[in-house]
Amino acid sequence: MLAYIGLGSNLGDPENQVLRAVQTLRQLPDIELLACSALYRSRPMGMTGQPDFVNAVAKISTDLYPMELLATLQEIEQQHRRVRTAQRWGPRTLDLDILLYGDLQMHTKELQIPHPGISEREFVLIPLQEMGEDLMIPGKGSLRELIDRLPEYQLTRIATPDVGARP
Ligand code: ADP
Ligand code: MG
Repeated sequence: MLAYIGLGSNLGDPENQVLRAVQTLRQLPDIELLACSALYRSRPMGMTGQPDFVNAVAKISTDLYPMELLATLQEIEQQHRRVRTAQRWGPRTLDLDILLYGDLQMHTKELQIPHPGISEREFVLIPLQEMGEDLMIPGKGSLRELIDRLPEYQLTRIATPDVGARP
């Protein structure tokens, strides 16, 4: 199954957190990393007064069922949260979200796919587009339409060395 994972961090050397998470995804036996976007810097949504986020999107192939994939991603988050930080809430060392899982739509308490924020989040839509994907977001419309509907956006592409596999 093709799936897209959103990565985000705004604490503890966020660029490095995201890059390390991509490396972890690459090494997992049940996941094949197919491509990864560049890293992007974005302003925090909601709670202001916290550091900017670094975001990226990874395209993977996996045999894991959605709940298994979620559990795997949560394990990776836990590993990264062991990094000691001064602050407790709000800022994240690492957030991994399942954005899309094939054309599946599911809405349970634990797992909503497509990820509910996907259609308003420039830091998801722009990296998806960068990977050259002409995607349909199940229940929401085409990636292109969603991007056209974004208000002006404030993403900055971070110049990085090769993040990983490219299509
Ligand atoms: P955020 O909404 O900022 O990503 P959290 O990462 O703390 O906040 O939320 C984690 C919870 O969101 C998880 O316990 C998980 O059950 C739930 N969740 C629902 N849909 C998804 C999804 N598509 N990907 C990841 N987590 C999800
Ligand atoms: Mg999350």
